[in-house]
Amino acid sequence: MSTDAVHPDVVVAGAGPVGMVTALLLDSAGITVELVERLTEGDPHSRATVLHPRTLEALTTIRYDDGRRLTDVLLAHGRTLPRTHFAALPQLLDYSGLDTPHPYILQITQATTERVLAALVEARGIRVHRGREVTGFEQDAEGVRVHIGETVVRAGHLVGADGAWSLVRERAGISFPGVAGTVKGYLGDVELDDPPPGPTHLWDHRTGWVTVLPLFDGIHRMFGVLPEDTGLTPEEVAARRSTPSPWRICAPS
Ligand SMILES: Cc1cc2nc3c(=O)[nH]c(=O)nc-3n(C[C@H](O)[C@H](O)[C@H](O)COP(=O)(O)OP(=O)(O)OC[C@H]3O[C@@H](n4cnc5c(N)ncnc54)[C@H](O)[C@@H]3O)c2cc1C
Repeated sequence: MSTDAVHPDVVVAGAGPVGMVTALLLDSAGITVELVERLTEGDPHSRATVLHPRTLEALTTIRYDDGRRLTDVLLAHGRTLPRTHFAALPQLLDYSGLDTPHPYILQITQATTERVLAALVEARGIRVHRGREVTGFEQDAEGVRVHIGETVVRAGHLVGADGAWSLVRERAGISFPGVAGTVKGYLGDVELDDPPPGPTHLWDHRTGWVTVLPLFDGIHRMFGVLPEDTGLTPEEVAARRSTPSPWRICAPS
């Protein structure tokens, strides 16, 4: 076991969006920080496709050396929509009346957001231990000894940004009981032979619901839940179909 000679103020476990934003904010404040990321490279698959107004506001506080704001760089990589779906709500949410400089959502894939963040982390010279894993830690009066495989890094603080199954949170005794899943869903980012002309909801008591959203470069996101999980009676499905919607609502042939 070796002990790293560099003693950063903070080690952040996990270089997902939360870890990278945390590191950039700390670095902006003059605090030395290092990231530890299990994956050798960024995940090309996307989970999130949307940044909401409050996130866009918060990210304006992070700037490039030339004065550009992180939010403006992200805006240039996506498209803004003043009204859009949220989860499985039957109506679109309207952001246009919000008292914010960003009264819209930014449609951008998480993979793109992470690429932009990683480039800025690199440009700032923040050290990233890629392909390495936080395997444990001990806290004492001076700070924390972070185990990264066989290496021990001594730091003032350890931030657990290591995702839903966080080792840091579990070892720190911070509970996160959550709730059991109540629906069976599916999601795919796919190329379609015959894509619909725009965002589309499809409701049917035999097939469940599916939403089709155009993403970027000809890729569509399809997601929905299985029929037994819609919780709707055939009559309720029919009523939803007849509700006027700015989105295309169609029935299977
Ligand atoms: C289908 C889907 C759609 C979503 N849509 C949206 C959306 O539209 N908008 C939105 O805001 N959110 C959305 N989310 C949620 C969003 O994806 C998550 O909130 C986000 O990824 C959380 O970021 P994070 O950095 O906390 O964790 P993660 O992205 O999970 O990153 C954690 C990182 O830590 C690393 N790691 C784990 N353990 C260790 C360890 N011991 N040592 C070192 N590294 C470790 C992992 O490899 C990973 O890179 C969606 C999620 C899903 C699943």
